[in-house]
Amino acid sequence: MGSIKKNNTVHKNEVTGWGNYPASTSAIFESSTVHQLREYVLTQKHLTARGNGKSYGDSSLGAPLLSCLGLNNIIDFDKTNRTITCESGVLLAQILELTVPAGYFLPVVPGTQFITIGGAVACDVHGKNHFAQGSFSKHVTEMKLLLASGETMVCSRTVEPDLFWATCGGMGLTGFIWQVTFRVVPIESVYLHVENIFCNSLSELFHAFRENNSAEHKVAWIDCLSKKNKNYKGILTLARPNTLVELSAKKKLNLLKVRMKKTFRVPFYLPSWFLQWRLVQIFNRIKWLVQLRAKDSASIPFSDFFFPLDTILDWNKLYGRKGFLQYQFVLPTLFAEEGTQLILDEVFASNDKCLLAVLKQFGDCDENALLSFPLKGFTVSLDFKRTDTLFALLDKLDEVVLKLGGRIYLAKDARMNLTAMEKGYPKLQEFQNVVKKFNPTKKFSSAQAERIGYIK
Ligand SMILES: Cc1cc2nc3c(=O)[nH]c(=O)nc-3n(C[C@H](O)[C@H](O)[C@H](O)COP(=O)(O)OP(=O)(O)OC[C@H]3O[C@@H](n4cnc5c(N)ncnc54)[C@H](O)[C@@H]3O)c2cc1C
Repeated sequence: MGSIKKNNTVHKNEVTGWGNYPASTSAIFESSTVHQLREYVLTQKHLTARGNGKSYGDSSLGAPLLSCLGLNNIIDFDKTNRTITCESGVLLAQILELTVPAGYFLPVVPGTQFITIGGAVACDVHGKNHFAQGSFSKHVTEMKLLLASGETMVCSRTVEPDLFWATCGGMGLTGFIWQVTFRVVPIESVYLHVENIFCNSLSELFHAFRENNSAEHKVAWIDCLSKKNKNYKGILTLARPNTLVELSAKKKLNLLKVRMKKTFRVPFYLPSWFLQWRLVQIFNRIKWLVQLRAKDSASIPFSDFFFPLDTILDWNKLYGRKGFLQYQFVLPTLFAEEGTQLILDEVFASNDKCLLAVLKQFGDCDENALLSFPLKGFTVSLDFKRTDTLFALLDKLDEVVLKLGGRIYLAKDARMNLTAMEKGYPKLQEFQNVVKKFNPTKKFSSAQAERIGYIK
């Protein structure tokens, strides 16, 4: 999305999500005052809320777009109660810049710090610590919304709870999130102790996840481009905050300094043939060998562990103009290993190769959540180049996921159908009822909601 600097601006731009598929040409309205946003809402028949466009598919596409990027003020940092109140267009990076030097961190962060607080709530994002800390909304105490009627409304677990629970993970369909209050957690330093566990099969990998219960963060990389005796190799990375005694004297000098890493830009879309799976296969083998030879454990700054891809801005252009899709599913614990094996085998046998696969563990989820993605079990994200045959493969994968009681993540989706949505999200009807109450004419919608047809 082109940047819009002026207050109260409407631009027409070609817009995409992070996957660069699909694209749409939309008017984008942005303002730094909720008063002007309200005026605009009242003049429009349909709108789509948009944060920083880091969801992969079409959830923040539509026409016109109501951007929250102009609402970028941090209103209060209450150290006594360990809460932040900010406007919805504030990026996680902006929060961390303020809180880390003061000794606080966000309880949940996704794989990039360049998302807005609005997007974090609307997709109810999860991190590498879901099994311990839940998803973002678990730490939200209160929100202010701008509704389709132009009214502003406060909601929390006790005030308008139906609106609160439908908004957490509600993909912007209940109204426009304007302000959010959420908890932060204390930290002693910016350093994490990380450790790698090398696994020669999925069963070793799942076993390692279960065995390592004391780690605060767990994430695994799977090499699904090479298979030996039906087995895929993987590396489980565990992390926990460093204790001060573990840190070198040099690190102790800057315990709470946010290190700004040098960033690189991919200047243009690479031709789609560039990212050949055979090239990635070789890269994977090298990665395995290099990591195997490296030290078993290390102390690294949080950004290297949580946001490794943020140093290469626009890395999505590596996939070429046709874009790419991330297929992220979750399976309940009981079927997670069996289902992951079935899915990786299906992908391995197809011509559509998965270039990056990541496995994470989910813990208990709040039973009040209506459309949040996590459920207790394991989640796998698979990155694919967009090809003419990919959607047929993903339809097959949907069947496996749904048969085993899982679901697909809307924040990554660009092709799911209504059946998959209805089966995967059993509280969909309750969600639809809340949408009918607060957004009765479907003024707040999105290209994704229209395509799937999941709000009535
Ligand atoms: C490199 C990378 C890594 C990622 N890793 C993870 C991860 O580990 N875990 C995870 O959960 N996600 C992950 N994501 C996905 C990303 O965190 C979510 O899609 C997030 O919601 C994007 O936020 P955004 O501000 O860019 O919102 P957008 O993409 O602009 O919008 C996402 C959704 O939120 C709605 N929305 C945005 N702002 C508002 C608002 N103010 N009011 C109402 N609705 C609003 C939109 O309508 C849309 O439905 C990753 C994405 C990338 C690019």
